[in-house]
Amino acid sequence: MSDDPRMPGLFGPLLLDFWNQKYIESGRDNREMSVPDAVFRHSWAGSCARRIQYEMQNYSGEREFDLPVRAPADRWRLEMGTLVHDYWQAALTACLPEATIEHVTSHPIDDAHTAGHGDALINHPQLGRVAVELKTRNGFGYKQDIGANKYEDAEGPSVAAKRQGALNALAEDADWLVILHISLEAVGPNQLPGQHKGDNYSPLRMTAEWWYSKEEYTPWATHELQRVSFIKKIIDNKELAPRHVPELMPSGARIVDVNKSQWYLEENNEVVSIGQLWNGRFCSYCPYVNACMEDG
Ligand code: SF4
Repeated sequence: MSDDPRMPGLFGPLLLDFWNQKYIESGRDNREMSVPDAVFRHSWAGSCARRIQYEMQNYSGEREFDLPVRAPADRWRLEMGTLVHDYWQAALTACLPEATIEHVTSHPIDDAHTAGHGDALINHPQLGRVAVELKTRNGFGYKQDIGANKYEDAEGPSVAAKRQGALNALAEDADWLVILHISLEAVGPNQLPGQHKGDNYSPLRMTAEWWYSKEEYTPWATHELQRVSFIKKIIDNKELAPRHVPELMPSGARIVDVNKSQWYLEENNEVVSIGQLWNGRFCSYCPYVNACMEDG
């Protein structure tokens, strides 16, 4: 007898295969933009500039990429997030019937436009217009977000979440952007940070939110729109966008080694700073990694 799992299993894959087929048939692998003819999806915000170029070219059909086929386990992960979104939106509209959910958002960008979906917009009598961006998180990521357990400092929402939320909030002229995280796994009460430690009933065990005023979030949105305009011109000129991720590396730095997600900052032809994104894993999550290595 061994404690290794039996491979292939019988009963788990039965669910996965059955459900995976339904997911494919529903067409959710190939989502259209929420606004026809849009060139940029708000969910691409905060990505590496080169990746945004590839996303835009792939969506418009200007260039064909040999992209990895989405695995059933990845569809499952996405579906879990969708289920939590549905639960939360049902709760929100039951408690606040005036809330708008899944509203379409867009910004003009040169001679084109962008497209997104806000998770919720609430016209609150005291707080004003509140735009909520919901992200589901795995247990590990959520603990880092709130500074639980051994992760001493709270890291808060990702740059990508802030920028996507900012684009949706600005499109609605919201007074507040709220990034709401819901964890797919409850945190143990003794792992909670600071004064919450040991509180079995603390909502922080599975949900946290960060509020940003219009003054705080607007620069994130405007910078992202400038980037999109810049990348669009690069595509028109048949050039390559820089391998640069905003806020995760210094301005002017470039990812030079995709295999290690390593960036260099050069000044006067000398490397003055070196860093690595996500401990070297950043580019391994990018579906365009082969095209990027080929293009250099
Ligand atoms: S592989 Fe890395 S550097 Fe290349 S497009 Fe993707 S994220 Fe950017």
